[in-house]
Amino acid sequence: MPPWQAAVRDAVRDVAELARLLDLPPATLGAFADARFPLLVPRGFVARMRRGDANDPLLKQILPAPAEAEPAEGFTADPVREQGLAANGLIRKYGGRALLIASGTCPVHCRYCFRREFPYQAQLAARDGWEPAIAELRGQADIGEVILSGGDPLSLSNRRLGELLAKLADTAATTVRIHTRFPIVIPERIDSELVRLFDTTRLRTVVVLHTNHPNELDAGVAGALTTLRPHVAALLNQAVLLAGINDDVTTLAALSQRLFDCGVLPYYLHALDPVAGAAHFDVAERRGVELIGELRARLPGYLVPRFVREVPGELSKTPIF
Ligand SMILES: *Cc1c(COP(=O)(O)O)cnc(C)c1O
Ligand code: SF4
Repeated sequence: MPPWQAAVRDAVRDVAELARLLDLPPATLGAFADARFPLLVPRGFVARMRRGDANDPLLKQILPAPAEAEPAEGFTADPVREQGLAANGLIRKYGGRALLIASGTCPVHCRYCFRREFPYQAQLAARDGWEPAIAELRGQADIGEVILSGGDPLSLSNRRLGELLAKLADTAATTVRIHTRFPIVIPERIDSELVRLFDTTRLRTVVVLHTNHPNELDAGVAGALTTLRPHVAALLNQAVLLAGINDDVTTLAALSQRLFDCGVLPYYLHALDPVAGAAHFDVAERRGVELIGELRARLPGYLVPRFVREVPGELSKTPIF
């Protein structure tokens, strides 16, 4: 088993164990249990959390909190209204791009995830060996880019991913984009076989990471990203603006700088999608605008992400600022 698969298998799934690892009394972490979207966090990510700090910004991203059970106006199971759009694991909601649900699993469960209630079992492109999804793509000459999404597409083994890339190379697409949190939470995922896949496919590869706080980017992650960088056409990051985690200019500026140190450019700062259970992470839009303004005053333009929102029915992200 490759080391990254062992890290997936050995991830922490028990709140009491997490409390022990962080030197916190179990009571401080509460015991909110969500059977459908349970605690899941790799040990390497836990190691980047501060011991004895129940407010650690990495901990808050993954800890099931009692606030999730409180209903909030406008926060729903399908906030971007995409569940009715999926067929054969493909979502055609953006112009010129197709989204392929390549995997239903993730190496970590982020509490604010907009797809936390997505019906993955019914909508996996892999379910019938990719063929229906690929057949549909072959019929669509206007699709220049296929975005592998999920779940996390790097949950696929290198062998499965290689099969998929070979099939995608046989469509009109010129670019494959991979949206992933894997290199952040389990940097061992960037192994020599994976970068060989990127080197050998005829498709241009773009990787969009998901990092919200500079503490996520330790030396191990920096090493993996430095390894990855020469094998892809672009290495970008998207973050979600999250209350109490990164909604201050110091953290956002440090995140951009640290990403740049790792060879990554900040791409999007997303306004939170109103998914049920995540209302306690919400930040007022005007505060986000203010933060981006402050970032512009401090950083070169290429380190300032675009502040965007996903508006159901739109053919692209909607820029806020
Ligand atoms: C916005 C978004 C996309 C499309 O990204 P663009 O960079 O705007 O083309 C794809 N997947 C997810 C999950 C997104 O949120
Ligand atoms: S890794 Fe991405 S898809 Fe998976 S739970 Fe986190 S935000 Fe959601």
